[in-house]
Amino acid sequence: MPTPEPIKSTRTPEVILADLVAFPGLPGQPNGPIAGWIADTLQAAGLTVHRVPMPDGDRLNLLASIGPADQPGGMILSGHMDVVPVEGQAWTTDPFRLTNVDGRLQARGATDMKGFLACMIAAVPMFQAAGLKRPVHLAFSCDEEIGCRGAPYLIAQLPRLCAPAAGCIVGEPSGLQPVLSHKGKVAYEVAFEGRSAHSSEPARGVNALYAAASLARAVEEQAGAIVTGGRRDPRFSPDYSTLVAGVLRAGSAVNIIPDRATLAFELRTIPGDDADAMLAPLLACAAAEVEAGRAVSWHATEIARYPALPPDAQALADKLSSWTGQTPRQSVSYGTEAGLFHAAGIPSIVCGPGDIARAHRPDEYITADELAGCMSLFAKLARELSQ
Ligand SMILES: [Zn+2]
Repeated sequence: MPTPEPIKSTRTPEVILADLVAFPGLPGQPNGPIAGWIADTLQAAGLTVHRVPMPDGDRLNLLASIGPADQPGGMILSGHMDVVPVEGQAWTTDPFRLTNVDGRLQARGATDMKGFLACMIAAVPMFQAAGLKRPVHLAFSCDEEIGCRGAPYLIAQLPRLCAPAAGCIVGEPSGLQPVLSHKGKVAYEVAFEGRSAHSSEPARGVNALYAAASLARAVEEQAGAIVTGGRRDPRFSPDYSTLVAGVLRAGSAVNIIPDRATLAFELRTIPGDDADAMLAPLLACAAAEVEAGRAVSWHATEIARYPALPPDAQALADKLSSWTGQTPRQSVSYGTEAGLFHAAGIPSIVCGPGDIARAHRPDEYITADELAGCMSLFAKLARELSQ
């Protein structure tokens, strides 16, 4: 594991990125090593770091402010520390070692989104030297890749940790284009319990597979109803909310009545659509399976939830656009914690270095120019907050 070193001007984003990618840091797993390294590094630079643990205690979110944290009107820079797995991917280099391949700085998380985190950390001395009149808040969240699970705990603590911020920049890769909006997402896994029996006497059992299959069909029908009768928003492609069943697990052998089956499905909502209202008929369908005796019991687990980001932060997008020279973009297809910050009353946009098309893929990379572009954006932010 890399040892924290003082953040000096020699600690370029590239050098810090090389340290960050050495921590695998999968979502849902203890993140003490990477969170601890970031916290130690920021503390060594003189910052106070607030650790915001997840309820199960083995994962941390972090917040550190530069400048007068008690002054309102600051800017939150937000990124996630976790990355997606590399299993089954054909990498040509070690995914946990930053490798320069013809100018491509290659590693898992290089673009999504440890490149942005490296810039946040590398910019600390510059922010400290800028004489900020309004603060910069560095927010590091966990478990983003499994549905932005860490950020809500961090956001809930913001009123205690700092004065209200004027805006939030979520640094998901967007080629530094300020992005105004994205869809929201809610995902559930519904588990049915049945009763196993020998397949020769199916009446002795309760086949949980059938209950899950019924629910899968209900998901498909509801998805079709949204396509034909749902609201439309031309900023998105597709321009309606989407509902998809993605995982169905049941059964172990053809001569055993399955006593357990699970179905996972997700809804991605355009701004203004009510996810809970749209999902209620599906949960009612699951309950009806039990009432009809097609399952013994059922249980729904929410596996992801973040709201849509409505396009409300035009002023912030225009400002970033004037700094980066990139025109604002109406929407992206992926989701981020920006919807959560917006829901907490903080104008939020997505704007980060690198290309989302490289994310989650083998040989993911970012370039030194892209990192430099992000540092230049932060320099303009520092100037703005010093006035
Ligand atoms: Zn990401």
